[in-house]
Amino acid sequence: MKYDVIIAGGGPAGATAAMECARAGLSVIIIEKEHLPRCKPCGGGVTAAAANLLWCPIPEKIVEARCSSFHSFYGAKSIKIDSEKEFMYVVAREKFDYWLVRAAVHVGAVLREGEEITSFDIEPGGVTVRTGTAAYTGKLLIGADGVNSIIAKTIRGPFRRNELAFCFCTECVDKENSDYNQGMIEIHYGPLPMSYSWVFPKRECLSVGTGGWCADVAGLKAALHNFLEKKGFEKQNVRGHALPLGGIRRTTVDDRVILAGDAAGFADPITGEGIRYAVASGRLAAKTAASLLLAGLDLKIKNLLIYEERCYAEFGADLKAAMSIARLFQRLPDFLFGMYFNSQEPFQKSLEIIHGRLSYQKYYRWFLHHIPFMLFRKVQPSGLKPTNRAD
Ligand SMILES: Cc1cc2nc3c(=O)[nH]c(=O)nc-3n(C[C@H](O)[C@H](O)[C@H](O)COP(=O)(O)OP(=O)(O)OC[C@H]3O[C@@H](n4cnc5c(N)ncnc54)[C@H](O)[C@@H]3O)c2cc1C
Repeated sequence: MKYDVIIAGGGPAGATAAMECARAGLSVIIIEKEHLPRCKPCGGGVTAAAANLLWCPIPEKIVEARCSSFHSFYGAKSIKIDSEKEFMYVVAREKFDYWLVRAAVHVGAVLREGEEITSFDIEPGGVTVRTGTAAYTGKLLIGADGVNSIIAKTIRGPFRRNELAFCFCTECVDKENSDYNQGMIEIHYGPLPMSYSWVFPKRECLSVGTGGWCADVAGLKAALHNFLEKKGFEKQNVRGHALPLGGIRRTTVDDRVILAGDAAGFADPITGEGIRYAVASGRLAAKTAASLLLAGLDLKIKNLLIYEERCYAEFGADLKAAMSIARLFQRLPDFLFGMYFNSQEPFQKSLEIIHGRLSYQKYYRWFLHHIPFMLFRKVQPSGLKPTNRAD
């Protein structure tokens, strides 16, 4: 059978794309190399902004914790922010991703699991995708096969090392601290440049990890071990995985091919959040496929470029602004973190981003305008009030 759309990978990008293609009336198949539910190293944080992109609320049985309190640390400094509304849901990725795939199958997508795509050919009349055991033909291929995507490597080459972040994570038991059970997340910036450690609550345990820009992968693993020891957490096994740094403009389409999610390079370069952009780009990939296929237009790169434009308008320009902020922190970490930790305002604004109510572009403008004010607060000795000339 010839499918309208073949999707490589059944993660959030692939499952969302499949769901939206099927809902638009296209015949669609997901080819996933693992048997589902599959395990995925991840903190499991689904921000409110990401959850709002889904077609329905995340089912209660998949939500491990609802978070409304955010405790940040940098060296000896710390700030705690409470939000009126939940800003993040913690999920077990194997359950969350499986729920997304089953929803796509429910509306008509075909699933082939346990089949790894090994090669594909683009021909004038369509695309042929080969796995170890079968060949599938279709009109369009959506490469949603993650950061090591074979589809992306073929059309664009692999990510360079300096375009990647790396994260190690584990699950821990902490019997003493009940704050985590009240929906609190913890973020500890440093100790390596452009890195942080997190603690997210889950029902029976904590999700703990350290991630950062890829310069020193061994150092990140050692940093996680130090963090676990300092916190006195009993750890299970540590797993690691790369993720792309978003905010760098890259090719995401070719004749009859669209890349989505990590394969396209869409993840937040500051926080490592990728689920939001996987879902957003999966939706836009499906929208592009449906608009071209249903209108009978050809699937050459010139028509598919509309996908890149849509991604840039919806979140790409935002990821670019996030990258500009990240690069400032890379150059002046102590100076900027020092300013940040003098006031709750930057953290309140960050929460607005997580809620999806503030864009990184606006945040960046606010940030540049407020550096002088934050600096003033930082250099002002405590107890000394600004003098009022009228007195
Ligand atoms: C340790 C760690 C922690 C993270 N924590 C968070 C977090 O808390 N919140 C957040 O939003 N993001 C987090 N991320 C990022 C997030 O996991 C990714 O951005 C997200 O999974 C991207 O979704 P995706 O669908 O593009 O790719 P993936 O989720 O990687 O899915 C790709 C799928 O393709 C399949 N596949 C791969 N190759 C082939 C092939 N050749 N043939 C067939 N199938 C194939 C894979 O098996 C996989 O199922 C984290 C990342 C890491 C590494």
